[in-house]
Amino acid sequence: MTKGRAVRWRRLSSPSTIYKGVRVSEDGDVSCEAATVYRPAYLKVPGADVDPGNLLQLAAHALRQSVEARRRIAEKAAVTRKRRRELKISSTAEAIRVGKVLGPRTNCVICGRGLADQHSIDRGIGSECWEGVLQRIEDLRASKLQEAA
Ligand SMILES: [Zn+2]
Repeated sequence: MTKGRAVRWRRLSSPSTIYKGVRVSEDGDVSCEAATVYRPAYLKVPGADVDPGNLLQLAAHALRQSVEARRRIAEKAAVTRKRRRELKISSTAEAIRVGKVLGPRTNCVICGRGLADQHSIDRGIGSECWEGVLQRIEDLRASKLQEAA
Protein backbone atom coordinates (compact mmCIF):
# COMPACT_ATOMS: atom_id res chain seq x y z
CA MET A 1 0.00 0.00 0.00
CA THR A 2 1.41 3.34 -1.05
CA LYS A 3 1.62 5.67 1.90
CA GLY A 4 -0.17 8.97 1.74
CA ARG A 5 -3.22 7.96 -0.21
CA ALA A 6 -6.46 6.62 1.23
CA VAL A 7 -8.27 3.84 -0.58
CA ARG A 8 -11.97 3.07 -0.39
CA TRP A 9 -14.19 0.27 -1.51
CA ARG A 10 -17.96 0.50 -1.40
CA ARG A 11 -18.19 -3.20 -0.81
CA LEU A 12 -15.76 -6.06 -0.16
CA SER A 13 -17.01 -9.53 0.49
CA SER A 14 -15.62 -12.77 1.79
CA PRO A 15 -17.57 -16.06 1.89
CA SER A 16 -19.12 -15.24 5.26
CA THR A 17 -19.02 -11.46 5.57
CA ILE A 18 -19.87 -8.46 3.45
CA TYR A 19 -18.03 -5.30 4.46
CA LYS A 20 -19.42 -1.95 3.35
CA GLY A 21 -17.56 1.33 3.14
CA VAL A 22 -14.12 -0.17 3.62
CA ARG A 23 -11.42 2.39 3.94
CA VAL A 24 -7.68 2.19 4.21
CA SER A 25 -6.34 5.47 5.52
CA GLU A 26 -3.14 7.14 4.38
CA ASP A 27 -1.53 5.69 7.51
CA GLY A 28 -2.64 2.19 6.58
CA ASP A 29 -5.45 1.83 9.13
CA VAL A 30 -8.34 -0.31 7.92
CA SER A 31 -11.92 0.51 8.84
CA CYS A 32 -15.39 -0.12 7.56
CA GLU A 33 -18.80 1.50 7.98
CA ALA A 34 -20.73 -1.76 8.27
CA ALA A 35 -20.12 -5.46 8.23
CA THR A 36 -22.85 -7.99 7.51
CA VAL A 37 -22.00 -11.46 8.66
CA TYR A 38 -23.52 -14.47 7.02
CA ARG A 39 -23.34 -17.81 8.79
CA PRO A 40 -24.69 -20.46 6.46
CA ALA A 41 -25.22 -23.94 7.88
CA TYR A 42 -22.00 -25.25 6.40
CA LEU A 43 -19.95 -22.80 8.46
CA LYS A 44 -20.76 -24.36 11.81
CA VAL A 45 -18.00 -23.79 14.32
CA PRO A 46 -19.43 -24.02 17.83
CA GLY A 47 -18.71 -20.96 19.94
CA ALA A 48 -16.64 -19.20 17.31
CA ASP A 49 -17.09 -15.48 16.82
CA VAL A 50 -17.11 -14.34 13.25
CA ASP A 51 -14.61 -11.59 12.69
CA PRO A 52 -12.07 -10.90 9.94
CA GLY A 53 -9.35 -12.75 11.85
CA ASN A 54 -11.60 -15.73 12.41
CA LEU A 55 -12.77 -15.83 8.84
CA LEU A 56 -9.82 -17.80 7.50
CA GLN A 57 -10.24 -20.38 10.25
CA LEU A 58 -13.93 -20.73 9.42
CA ALA A 59 -13.30 -21.06 5.72
CA ALA A 60 -10.57 -23.67 6.29
CA HIS A 61 -12.89 -25.59 8.61
CA ALA A 62 -15.74 -25.47 6.10
CA LEU A 63 -13.41 -26.62 3.35
CA ARG A 64 -12.16 -29.56 5.43
CA GLN A 65 -15.76 -30.51 6.20
CA SER A 66 -16.79 -30.45 2.56
CA VAL A 67 -13.72 -32.43 1.52
CA GLU A 68 -14.53 -35.00 4.22
CA ALA A 69 -18.19 -35.13 3.15
CA ARG A 70 -17.21 -35.63 -0.50
CA ARG A 71 -14.81 -38.42 0.55
CA ARG A 72 -17.58 -40.18 2.52
CA ILE A 73 -19.99 -39.88 -0.43
CA ALA A 74 -17.38 -41.28 -2.83
CA GLU A 75 -16.64 -44.14 -0.42
CA LYS A 76 -20.33 -45.00 -0.13
CA ALA A 77 -20.75 -44.84 -3.92
CA ALA A 78 -17.82 -47.22 -4.40
CA VAL A 79 -19.41 -49.72 -1.98
CA THR A 80 -22.73 -49.44 -3.82
CA ARG A 81 -21.05 -49.93 -7.22
CA LYS A 82 -19.18 -52.99 -5.94
CA ARG A 83 -22.38 -54.50 -4.47
CA ARG A 84 -24.35 -53.89 -7.69
CA ARG A 85 -21.56 -55.45 -9.73
CA GLU A 86 -21.46 -58.51 -7.45
CA LEU A 87 -25.23 -58.93 -7.82
CA LYS A 88 -24.96 -58.59 -11.60
CA ILE A 89 -22.14 -61.13 -11.71
CA SER A 90 -24.21 -63.55 -9.62
CA SER A 91 -27.31 -63.27 -11.80
CA THR A 92 -25.20 -63.55 -14.97
CA ALA A 93 -23.37 -66.63 -13.66
CA GLU A 94 -26.73 -68.20 -12.81
CA ALA A 95 -28.10 -67.35 -16.28
CA ILE A 96 -25.07 -68.98 -17.93
CA ARG A 97 -25.37 -72.01 -15.64
CA VAL A 98 -28.93 -72.63 -16.83
CA GLY A 99 -27.79 -72.32 -20.45
CA LYS A 100 -28.87 -68.78 -21.33
CA VAL A 101 -26.96 -67.22 -24.25
CA LEU A 102 -26.09 -63.57 -23.62
CA GLY A 103 -24.12 -62.68 -26.74
CA PRO A 104 -23.34 -61.46 -29.24
CA ARG A 105 -23.52 -57.94 -27.83
CA THR A 106 -21.66 -54.69 -28.36
CA ASN A 107 -21.72 -53.81 -24.61
CA CYS A 108 -20.89 -55.91 -21.56
CA VAL A 109 -24.03 -57.20 -19.78
CA ILE A 110 -22.34 -56.58 -16.43
CA CYS A 111 -20.62 -53.20 -16.63
CA GLY A 112 -22.10 -51.82 -19.85
CA ARG A 113 -18.72 -50.93 -21.33
CA GLY A 114 -18.20 -51.35 -25.06
CA LEU A 115 -16.80 -54.70 -26.17
CA ALA A 116 -13.91 -54.75 -28.63
CA ASP A 117 -12.60 -58.29 -29.08
CA GLN A 118 -14.61 -61.01 -30.78
CA HIS A 119 -14.58 -63.39 -27.78
CA SER A 120 -16.12 -60.73 -25.55
CA ILE A 121 -18.67 -59.73 -28.19
CA ASP A 122 -19.71 -63.37 -28.71
CA ARG A 123 -20.29 -64.03 -25.02
CA GLY A 124 -21.62 -60.50 -24.28
CA ILE A 125 -19.22 -60.07 -21.37
CA GLY A 126 -15.90 -58.20 -21.24
CA SER A 127 -12.75 -60.06 -20.21
CA GLU A 128 -12.50 -58.35 -16.78
CA CYS A 129 -16.10 -59.13 -15.90
CA TRP A 130 -15.78 -62.61 -17.40
CA GLU A 131 -13.15 -63.49 -14.77
CA GLY A 132 -15.67 -62.60 -12.06
CA VAL A 133 -18.39 -64.63 -13.77
CA LEU A 134 -16.11 -67.68 -14.14
CA GLN A 135 -15.20 -67.44 -10.47
CA ARG A 136 -18.87 -67.24 -9.53
CA ILE A 137 -19.75 -70.23 -11.73
CA GLU A 138 -16.96 -72.18 -10.00
CA ASP A 139 -18.35 -71.14 -6.60
CA LEU A 140 -21.87 -72.18 -7.65
CA ARG A 141 -20.60 -75.59 -8.85
CA ALA A 142 -18.66 -76.09 -5.63
CA SER A 143 -21.71 -75.32 -3.49
CA LYS A 144 -23.94 -77.61 -5.62
CA LEU A 145 -21.40 -80.41 -5.19
CA GLN A 146 -21.40 -79.82 -1.46
CA GLU A 147 -25.21 -79.94 -1.40
CA ALA A 148 -25.16 -83.21 -3.35
CA ALA A 149 -22.58 -84.79 -1.05
ZN1 LIG B 1 -17.85 -55.67 -18.12
